[in-house]
Amino acid sequence: MAETVFLAEVSWPEFARRIAQGAPVFIPVGATEQHGRHLPLSVDAIIPTWISAEVAKHCGGLVVPPIAYGNRSQPRSGGGPAFPGTINITATTLSWLLRDIITELHRHGARHLVVVNGHYENIWPSVEGIELALDHIGRERTQGLKILRIDHWELVRPETLARVFPEGYPGIELEHASVIETSIMLALKPELVDLAQAAHDGPARFKPYDRFPGPVAEVPASGVLSETKGSSAEKGRWLLADAVERIKQAVAEEFGKEVG
Ligand code: ZN
Ligand code: MN
Repeated sequence: MAETVFLAEVSWPEFARRIAQGAPVFIPVGATEQHGRHLPLSVDAIIPTWISAEVAKHCGGLVVPPIAYGNRSQPRSGGGPAFPGTINITATTLSWLLRDIITELHRHGARHLVVVNGHYENIWPSVEGIELALDHIGRERTQGLKILRIDHWELVRPETLARVFPEGYPGIELEHASVIETSIMLALKPELVDLAQAAHDGPARFKPYDRFPGPVAEVPASGVLSETKGSSAEKGRWLLADAVERIKQAVAEEFGKEVG
């Protein structure tokens, strides 16, 4: 039997053995959020979970069950709350959930943690969750705890972005359900992608400010904020390779770990 990297699939003695060996522990943070008519609601959880597992395989790591709900989807970065199926949680809930998971992992002896985020609106709530954990553990009592926080799209190299977007990169906020996520899903779970359903009603033309309460009329009806045109599984593999490679490097550099 191949050795699993998923914490949910190991026994407690096996968990203890891996932690005693210094296993880095990955915490994927996602969302349950609309991703257009052509992608499933769990894109933001599937991607960081896969990336985490891929790196964990190469460094003796473990991946905890992902946080499958994200901080409130916003019109200008995720289409907003109006789409059926988007299940939002508050920033407070997300931060405290992450704070509790980190605190528990620390209590069990884990010292090298990697939070891998897949949802734009989770950026600051995940920072806050880490800070709350450090407040709770005590900054003088961390016993070598080191936490990395990564937004997977930040790891894509400029050369890769230039290959993926020969006509120019629209920026990550508008990339919702667009070329990056569609390409990665075509590479990882083609059976969950239905390109025939991809509407071409973007890109969105947002005003440079938010308006509350919604709905915001500029959100394309499909929920795709930019365009899906030009997506491919090959591009998805380039994007994933950058993320995996650079997290491996980070694990080696920051934790002084052998990474295969
Ligand atoms: Zn997404
Ligand atoms: Mn999202």
